[in-house]
Amino acid sequence: MAVYKADAIVIRSREYGEADKLLTLFSRERGKLEAVAKGVRKPKSTQRGGTQLFTYADFLLYKGKSLDTVNQVHPRESFIHLWDDFDRTIAASGIAELLDISTTRDQPEPELFTLTLGFLFLLKYVDPYIAQASYALRLLNIHGYLPGLNNCVECGATVSGTQAFLSAEAGGLLCSSCKNNETVTMLNGGGLALMRRLKSVEIDKLDRFRWNKKMRLEILGSLCYFCENKFERKLKAWRSGSELIV
Ligand SMILES: [Zn+2]
Repeated sequence: MAVYKADAIVIRSREYGEADKLLTLFSRERGKLEAVAKGVRKPKSTQRGGTQLFTYADFLLYKGKSLDTVNQVHPRESFIHLWDDFDRTIAASGIAELLDISTTRDQPEPELFTLTLGFLFLLKYVDPYIAQASYALRLLNIHGYLPGLNNCVECGATVSGTQAFLSAEAGGLLCSSCKNNETVTMLNGGGLALMRRLKSVEIDKLDRFRWNKKMRLEILGSLCYFCENKFERKLKAWRSGSELIV
């Protein structure tokens, strides 16, 4: 039976069979993988810790005909800080969910792997939703979907006023003359300026950023709608945890 190694993060974990878990892993070498971890819901399982959601670990996997199986797992980092705070758990779930819906299996994406691992560490000391928004903008950039945040994508006019409209279908900002009411989310001047900075500032400076609830809901709501449209899947964790109305 073929065996392979994967340096991977657990980005989804579902109960499977009587005592197993079906894991979605995001690995440095191979991108997204699915594997069954047998017996890990039994209290005495030695693999329990390594197969928890968000854990970063060295996996040894058996290649199966339909599903691969976890043979060994050695945790490197279990990110305890993501579990002791509701907002951090929600933001990490949002990051894992966005990574999952935006990638296909067995396609190596080393840049996305490094980005995700970095943000899971960052969630220890940065406002969790600032981290989630900044992660989403950087993920869109890697996928080539980053919305232009300076000019109207239809007519090219500079968008610098107090209101801008983000259109998922158009792939970026629209000025007030080009906007289509059915497909846009609105960003006021402060929200747009903050998005520009969250996209490009060095990640070790993200701990300096603060926002109020209105701006948070506006930016996360716009990004949620934009990403759902681009990747054609719903972002359930984004919607359930952060009161988004989009
Ligand atoms: Zn325009």
